[in-house]
Amino acid sequence: MLKSVYDHYVVLYEQLLPQYPHLAHDHSLKHEQEVYAASNKFTYRNAVIQSVAAIKRRPIPTSYSHPSVGTEADIVARAQAKNSLAAFRLSASVLDSHVLSVPDLEKWGYITAVPEVPGGERPSMTGSVVKCERCPEMFMVSPEFDPNACLHHWGKPYTRSVNGERVRTYSCCSKHVSEEGCVRGPHVFYESNPDILHARHSFSFLNSPSRSRSALDIAALDCEMVYTTGGMRVARVSVVDGTGKSIFDEFVRMDDGVEVLDFNTRFSGITASDYVSKALLPLASIRKSLDAFIDTHTILIGHALENDLRTLRIIHHRCIDTAILFPHPAGAPYRRSLRDLARDHLQTKIQTGDGSTGHSSLEDAVATLDLVKFFIMNKGNLPGIGSAASKRAPIGRTPGTPNPSGSGSSATASRTGTPSTSSRSPSVPVYV
Ligand SMILES: [Zn+2]
Ligand SMILES: [Zn+2]
Repeated sequence: MLKSVYDHYVVLYEQLLPQYPHLAHDHSLKHEQEVYAASNKFTYRNAVIQSVAAIKRRPIPTSYSHPSVGTEADIVARAQAKNSLAAFRLSASVLDSHVLSVPDLEKWGYITAVPEVPGGERPSMTGSVVKCERCPEMFMVSPEFDPNACLHHWGKPYTRSVNGERVRTYSCCSKHVSEEGCVRGPHVFYESNPDILHARHSFSFLNSPSRSRSALDIAALDCEMVYTTGGMRVARVSVVDGTGKSIFDEFVRMDDGVEVLDFNTRFSGITASDYVSKALLPLASIRKSLDAFIDTHTILIGHALENDLRTLRIIHHRCIDTAILFPHPAGAPYRRSLRDLARDHLQTKIQTGDGSTGHSSLEDAVATLDLVKFFIMNKGNLPGIGSAASKRAPIGRTPGTPNPSGSGSSATASRTGTPSTSSRSPSVPVYV
């Protein structure tokens, strides 16, 4: 009987076994124990036959985090965890103790005060020579740019083992770091200095709470950004309320005098035709629209939210950041990517763009909200997280094998316009 269960797991896990050779063995053993415990000597045989038939009906998993991976009990537990996550309601009073303090915000690179220089005086760098974000070259910023001027790698360098030797290669093309780029595009630039960002478009706080307006007490927010003649700028803003309902999802037209250099579609998910047809309002109007439902008292949830607030030019002091809530085992400045956190804790796949579809800020906003829900529901049971870490497995986590590689991290880093190395400033996050 056990052999039959094992054989069916071998077939089911065909694509996973090269990477996880013990998976069929481990899960068939556990599976058989589950059936044994739930049956008696009269029903056992039939129970095994039925459970083998159920294994055969499962879709073939393509990754370890696929919903088909696990024993029957694992799958039922995950479905229950998903349902309880969906039913769970966050409250501002529960979240209050997780709102970051201003010193913590500063430590993590948040801009906490409006810069004391004139704002909005220089929206664009057109005519100036700047350093390219993607390659080492200096270039003249111009709306008449060469779309193929820059030979670069869109991925990030990482170390891997080849025939026992450690080599450093790019995640985009597996070329050695000494080799030239694998894609061409325009030169682009990225700015992070708060005074410079303020000169491009002014920072401001949200409105104070008002009796005449009922703002959300909790909202999750995510932005997509594109490269422009005024640095990296917001091009889409998505906000969901505390229940995950979409409240706002708009494209943003660039300020007058600012032209898009690269839609960065691989990471932003935004195409030129999206922009032409959907980006109708400039940032100032978008900010006015946001004022209708978020104010200084709203708890804003995001992943590496400092990037979203920077690009929206919002100064805000009531923030919960899933990149900080779920710390990287190696500590700061390392951060886990939203994609990896969603895969590990929510068993959901996000940011699966193959290079043409990219991200969806709405999907990401929902994922950050769900991660905060997951955190509150499992507080104290998450190893290395919270004050009372215990050894009990958190709800919904796929048991057993460690996570596959932390791929996808460069996507988040690049999406948010954040350099993938720590060379730029001490507060720059590194996603691994
Ligand atoms: Zn490459
Ligand atoms: Zn370049």
